[in-house]
Amino acid sequence: MAARPREIKLVIIGDSGVGKSSLVLRFVTQSFKPFSESTIGASFMSKVIELDGQTVKVQIWDTAGQEKYKSLAPMYYRGAAAAIVVYDITRRESFGTLQRWVSELQEKGPRDLRIMVAGNKKDLEGDRQVAAEEAEAYAESIGARYMETSAKDDMAVQDLFLSLCQQVPLVS
Ligand code: GDP
Repeated sequence: MAARPREIKLVIIGDSGVGKSSLVLRFVTQSFKPFSESTIGASFMSKVIELDGQTVKVQIWDTAGQEKYKSLAPMYYRGAAAAIVVYDITRRESFGTLQRWVSELQEKGPRDLRIMVAGNKKDLEGDRQVAAEEAEAYAESIGARYMETSAKDDMAVQDLFLSLCQQVPLVS
């Protein structure tokens, strides 16, 4: 019988400062640290979730500063089933470089990787530099879904991780 995988490796990618570590921290511990140092972000965290009554362990790999080298170590995405690609809605540049991260994942990552594009810092709506429609169109063009989040105000963070895990194929 087809079942949810017992473990899901999920990678989170995007420019430095977009809020990757904050999203992971919010998802895993329901907290937010306003002055987190971007390079000190936890490189690895896990959380046990329930999907349709089944227990699944989500192992989350944060880039922990690798993004500065503009390329990812293969061990980082090896065996990954899901990826969250994050940009900051108040920083247009971070949306531009997102495409590079996605290309790298699509070229070198697992074939059936499920991708979610996340526009973070939605609480800073007044400083928005990228329209939601534009990001949505981009996500659609790569066969991904798009969501807007705030790690600070806890907007759609659980939903982001859970709905991505829902998309991971069942195993027999
Ligand atoms: P990373 O380098 O991508 O892991 O980014 P961090 O998680 O370290 O966050 C970078 C900075 O943005 C930190 O000062 C965070 O407190 C801040 N930050 C992260 N998420 C949000 C958010 O949703 N809203 C706001 N206003 N600030 C955020």
